[in-house]
Amino acid sequence: MTYVYEPDAYSQKPIATSYWPTTVVPPTLPKLNGQHQADVAIIGAGFTGLNAAYHLCQTGAKVIVIDAQSPAFGASGRNGGFCCLGGGKISNAALIKSYGADQQRLYRQAEHSAVAYVHDLTAVLGIDIDRHSNGETLLAHSPRAARHLTQIHDEIAADYNVTPTLHTRDDLASLGMRGHFFGGVTTPIGFGLNPQKYLLGLLANTPDLTCFANSPVQAITPVAQGYQLTTPQGSVTAAKFVIATNGYTSEDMFPWMTSRFLPVQSSVIVTEPISPERQKQQGWFSDQMAYDTRFLLHYFRRLPNGRFLFGMRGGLQYTPASEAVIKTTITRNFRRLFPNWRDIRIDHYWSGLVAMNRNLAPYVGEIAGYPGGYAGFGYHGNGVAMGSYAGAILADLITTGSTARTYPKVFQHPPKRYPLGRHRRWLLAPIYRIMPWIEG
Ligand SMILES: Cc1cc2nc3c(=O)[nH]c(=O)nc-3n(C[C@H](O)[C@H](O)[C@H](O)COP(=O)(O)OP(=O)(O)OC[C@H]3O[C@@H](n4cnc5c(N)ncnc54)[C@H](O)[C@@H]3O)c2cc1C
Repeated sequence: MTYVYEPDAYSQKPIATSYWPTTVVPPTLPKLNGQHQADVAIIGAGFTGLNAAYHLCQTGAKVIVIDAQSPAFGASGRNGGFCCLGGGKISNAALIKSYGADQQRLYRQAEHSAVAYVHDLTAVLGIDIDRHSNGETLLAHSPRAARHLTQIHDEIAADYNVTPTLHTRDDLASLGMRGHFFGGVTTPIGFGLNPQKYLLGLLANTPDLTCFANSPVQAITPVAQGYQLTTPQGSVTAAKFVIATNGYTSEDMFPWMTSRFLPVQSSVIVTEPISPERQKQQGWFSDQMAYDTRFLLHYFRRLPNGRFLFGMRGGLQYTPASEAVIKTTITRNFRRLFPNWRDIRIDHYWSGLVAMNRNLAPYVGEIAGYPGGYAGFGYHGNGVAMGSYAGAILADLITTGSTARTYPKVFQHPPKRYPLGRHRRWLLAPIYRIMPWIEG
């Protein structure tokens, strides 16, 4: 199969030292062998695919999920666990210009609904997700950035109809969020979770689902009964199918997806458990999840067991050399922002792929020209909530042709293809080069 990054980026190598697999044991799933029939076949067993599967199974549909590797393999099993607003990077101005003020409001409402959706789902199913944090805190990385916090505060209040809290640098210290930051604003929406516990908990709560692992779908072909999805050792024929492969989609699986998203690497470290004394020494003893105001932002949170998770964008390549550079950079940035933890050991490092769309908004809907074919992708590094919500919307659309959930028009607008074909990752090069230089 043809991919945008080096083949190793799609192997087990990037997650060889991930933290999450040490916290939960995934089930062993069979490979797809022989011919199978289903009402709906779903490609990809991450948040998008498994949320769609969960709701479809609730309606009594026969559903088969096929994953190239395993349910926790993709971004859903290796993210930072921020269940938060986001999902797109599109601005209010762009939304209003293209879709009008009502749709802009609907879009912000959808972001909020996505977080509420995961909250409700995990509560109803009783999934233990190691939840913590009341909303999330944006931290100013420079005095200049701090001067924009009031404006950001007002936009958040207007967009999500909530009351955010502004923090001075002194406030942050008293709240246990002291680092190299110059103020902040807390949005009371969102929470931190263990992504693998959420994902595998959802899978365990979908007992009627058939899920195959280690079975890459190589082609999707229209046939009399709907579509045939072919893997190396078998096939599934189904009336309807869902593409839920996001940043791990190959260039040649399905022509409609080719170049329609930009895969971007993100990297994470997790420290050894930090004692309460060492947390106090640094001044970070809050369990609030946080990110900074940089364009290429850092995201971080103290996990319930005292370990500290810290993430940032990854590299433009996936090679041993490029990974070594990113690991060094992320460790250096962590130590710069939390100088009293210079000697804290880094126990885990891993990386993975997120997906961006050209219109900076997720796509969630039917695929034009392929009746019964659906896709959900492009969550811009914020797919814990939005990918889950997209899966639920897709299940509604497949079942009834519509959804009662908040479903803004921009989700229904297929993003244009990126230029440069499978070399499009290099579009990121100027941004990666210039932004750290500008932002310090
Ligand atoms: C390091 C990192 C940190 C992140 N942190 C956060 C965060 O804190 N908060 C947040 O909201 N989001 C975060 N994200 C993004 C978030 O994890 C993703 O947006 C989300 O998990 C996407 O879910 P998905 O189900 O659409 O795709 P994925 O979880 O990527 O799943 C896609 C699946 O498709 C399978 N697949 C691919 N091709 C085929 C094929 N041909 N046949 C069969 N199966 C196939 C893959 O094996 C994979 O399992 C992060 C991502 C990364 C990589």
